[in-house]
Amino acid sequence: MSAGNLAVDVLRRISVEPTTRSALAKSLGLAPSTVSAKVTELIASGVIEEQGVAPSLGGRPGRLLSIAHRSGRTAVIALGARHATVGLSDLSRNVVASTSIVVNVADGPEATVDLLAKEVQALIRSTGGDLLAAGIGLPGPVDTESRTVIAPARMPGWHRQDVGALLEGALSVPTVTDNDANLAALGEFLSRTDAATNSITVLAGTGIGTGIIARGELYRGSSYASGDITHTKVEAANDRMCSCGNRGCLETIASGAAIVRDLSESGIAVKNINEVLLKVRDGDPAANGVVREAGRQLGLALSTVVNFFNPGDVYLSGGLSSANVYVAAVRSQLYERCLPLVTSGLRVEASKPGVETGLIGAAELSIMHLLNTRTLPASLTRPAG
Ligand SMILES: [Zn+2]
Repeated sequence: MSAGNLAVDVLRRISVEPTTRSALAKSLGLAPSTVSAKVTELIASGVIEEQGVAPSLGGRPGRLLSIAHRSGRTAVIALGARHATVGLSDLSRNVVASTSIVVNVADGPEATVDLLAKEVQALIRSTGGDLLAAGIGLPGPVDTESRTVIAPARMPGWHRQDVGALLEGALSVPTVTDNDANLAALGEFLSRTDAATNSITVLAGTGIGTGIIARGELYRGSSYASGDITHTKVEAANDRMCSCGNRGCLETIASGAAIVRDLSESGIAVKNINEVLLKVRDGDPAANGVVREAGRQLGLALSTVVNFFNPGDVYLSGGLSSANVYVAAVRSQLYERCLPLVTSGLRVEASKPGVETGLIGAAELSIMHLLNTRTLPASLTRPAG
C-alpha cells in the first residue's frame, strides 16, 4: 500500500467517527507504528486533529482523531454568466466565508478561472485555514468524469474545456466540477433536515436549470443533461430567439433574461435581474406582472415534470426565488395542473434566504472527492517537519 493510499484510508475511517491510532491500525490490518507515523504526518499537515480521549478499557487511554474541521477548507464556487459567488467551506460543509464578484464568462475559461482562483486565495489569506480541495458549479451541462462543460448555450468558448484542471492548476488542490443546478439540488437536500428523498430544484436566474435528487442521490442522466428544461419548446414562446440558437424555448419567456428583455421592451429601463427584483419589492405593477407571468410559464412547463417524476419537494432557488410573486405563480400552476395524488404531499418552497445552496453542494462533492483522491495534495503527504 502506498503512502498516498494510507492517508486516504485514514481520512475515510475517521470521517465516519473519531477513532484512536490503535483502533485504526487494527481496522486497517497494519502495524501500529506505520499508522502512527502517517497520523503524525496528517496532523502536521493540518488535515486531522486530536480531539478528546477514548473511553479506557483498562489500558492507557488513546486520543481520538478526527478530521480537522477547524482548519481544513474547501473552495466553493458558483459561477454565473455575469457574476460568481466564491466561498470557503469547512469540512463539515459550513460556508465560513463568501463573496460575490463580477465576471464575464465571455472572457473565456482561462481568464475567468484565474480571477476565481485569485479570489479564493484572497479569502484564505484573510480568514486563515488550509485549502484542501475545490468544487465549482457551472451554468451549463457538465461531464463530471472528464470535468468538461458540454455545449453550454451561455458560455461561448467553454465547450469541452477541462475547467477542473484549470482550477486545480491554479489552486494546487483536487477539484470537482458539476452543473450549477445539480449543486443547488444537492445543497437543498443536505441543508434541510426534513428534505424529501425525491426532489426537484429549479435554479432560476438569468437562465433556468433544474437539479434532480432521486432516492437521496443526485441524478445526472445518461449524458449529463438531466433537468435541462430551459430549452424545452413551449407554445407561448412562439418563435422568440433563444441563447441556444433555437427558437421558442422556455428560457425566452420564463427566465431572468426574458424578464429583463420584456420590461425593457415595454419602456421600463432595467439592466439586470437585481434591478427587476428591486422594482418587484417596491410594488411596481409592471415588474410584478412580468415576473408573475414568467413564474406562471415556468409552473406550466414544470407541471409535466412533476406529474411524471412525483417528487416530494420542489425547491426554487437562484435570484428569482426571492420574488414571492414568482414562487406563488409556480406553486399555483403546479397545484392547479398536477394530479391530486401528486400534489397531496407536494411542497413547493423557495430557498431559505441567505443560504447559497450551490456552495453547500460544491462543498459536499469536493470533500467526497478529497477523501477518494488517490494522490493527495502535496501539503497532505509531505513528511512531518
Ligand atoms: Zn434555447
